[in-house]
Amino acid sequence: MEECYSLPSCARHKPCFFPFERDGQPWRKAGIGRRRHWTALHPTATYVRWCRACANLAAAGVSAGDAVLLVSPNGIEFPIAQLAIQLLPATCVAASPFLSPDELVHVMRVGMARWAVVDESVLGVIEKVTTMLPNTLREIWVIGSSSKSHPSFYSLMKTERWAAWPPQVENSSFNPAREVALMQFSSGTTGLTKGVMLSHRNLLTLYMQVKCFVEDVDNKKKASGEPDSEADILSRVLLFIPLHHNYATVTFNFVVTVGGCCVMMKTFSPHSFFNALQKYKITYAPIVPHIANFLLHTPLLKEYDITSLKSLISASAPLPPSTKQALTTRMGCAMRQGYGLTETCAGVATTIPHVYSKMGSVGRVMPYLEVKIVAPESSKGLPPGEEGEVWVRSPAIMLGYANVPGATASPSALKEGGWLPTGDLGHCDHEGFLFITDRIKDMIKVKGFQVSPRELEDVLRRVEGVREVAVIGVPSPRLGEAPRAYVVPLPGEATPSSQVLKDYVAAARLPPHKHLAGGVQVVDAIPKNSIGKVLKRRLRDEYLRAEAAKK
Ligand code: AMP
Repeated sequence: MEECYSLPSCARHKPCFFPFERDGQPWRKAGIGRRRHWTALHPTATYVRWCRACANLAAAGVSAGDAVLLVSPNGIEFPIAQLAIQLLPATCVAASPFLSPDELVHVMRVGMARWAVVDESVLGVIEKVTTMLPNTLREIWVIGSSSKSHPSFYSLMKTERWAAWPPQVENSSFNPAREVALMQFSSGTTGLTKGVMLSHRNLLTLYMQVKCFVEDVDNKKKASGEPDSEADILSRVLLFIPLHHNYATVTFNFVVTVGGCCVMMKTFSPHSFFNALQKYKITYAPIVPHIANFLLHTPLLKEYDITSLKSLISASAPLPPSTKQALTTRMGCAMRQGYGLTETCAGVATTIPHVYSKMGSVGRVMPYLEVKIVAPESSKGLPPGEEGEVWVRSPAIMLGYANVPGATASPSALKEGGWLPTGDLGHCDHEGFLFITDRIKDMIKVKGFQVSPRELEDVLRRVEGVREVAVIGVPSPRLGEAPRAYVVPLPGEATPSSQVLKDYVAAARLPPHKHLAGGVQVVDAIPKNSIGKVLKRRLRDEYLRAEAAKK
């Protein structure tokens, strides 16, 4: 069992280390195809599967420049498929397995996917999508137990068909700075979900950034006599954050860079989380703030031995300093924080205790990145300590949003000089520590997942008797943030009840994290400024005041 983790013997394939764990069973007990028990793989075996999958995708007709949809919960198949697609070099369109058919139709349109690799658990949804978009997908490979109507993804990894190998990598027109290697999804600073186009150069920059950062941190630790190197800390990483999200992409690069091992969980569940920590002697686990909150209060902690855990990291949404401190004490491990966006591909800032750490900060700005703070109204740069919008520039910044010309050209996308306005408010100090204080973009983070208020507003406007609607995010201990709706009824018509409105959203085939868990309030008017812009901050402040008064 232990040898699953003995990586140094495989140094020849160092950049290709992907030994994973699936569903808690050791890989030796079962082979490929018997999915429930398919688990950690030896790095060399993984490397071979990756190359075979690439050659077989090419043999099946997928060519350079094509887009392949990848929809799967966490598992070893995900990175094998992603890297095989990118090696072609085609575009991997990575979508969440929790999307509704309508959302997937949007993803397919934006990503222009012609092929798909999907997990058996989402096959039903994909098949619905294919009836909504007939003749779009040429082939669907299924991860999991074999399907009668579609070939298995395992067949791509099993067979030795090297005729099409090497794939079209020698194509001289291939430009790593322009070709899209990965498409992930984000609502950006406003509006509906957009496809974030990340080039091969963006991903290489992420890899270079991580390499450079790890070296720098290790040098500083050596100098100050810190006992654990980054390789020690990242040697066994528990990954339940979804692989289709940029947070996992960044974490994955850290693990690969130091030759660590990932233990995969399909989704977070309290018992399996603690069980995995104990059983696999996990050293590092990326979490999101609502999980931090859960860990602060769960009695399960007493039932498990988690002494192997050296550090947690929280990213994707704000983590209050008090939670950070309390969690360090309760879990008996260090606590890091990270800040980044899908659009930046790489992490923007990270704290490392005793190396780069300051109370309330999301960390030191990372290598290969520049950050400036600008006044939101005038876009003028501000000096250290002054609060403004955080702008980022880097070779890791996305190429733009896919098939939404207006979005890249609009004031909310890239600015002159390649600067990306993040839609976050904050300040930097003289030492390059970044502090995120608020969000000015119209986006809600539920359990670390983005929710676009506009999407929910569009759904609620379709309810009979609704004249106007505004959706905001309100703090929720269970979810991080929760969507809350303010609704103005049409005069003279029956006012729809809060429950009817909540049910309508739930029935609109939206995933649970988009439901109105923050409640619905029927109001006479929604506050607006002189040009009719909804004052969402005022709604939020009023909500917070009312909640504080209740306590
Ligand atoms: P995503 O593209 O889903 O990663 O979302 C990026 C957004 O998440 C950022 O623009 C922030 O609004 C938020 N975010 C990520 N990390 C943090 C953090 N450490 N603190 C506060 N907000 C964060």
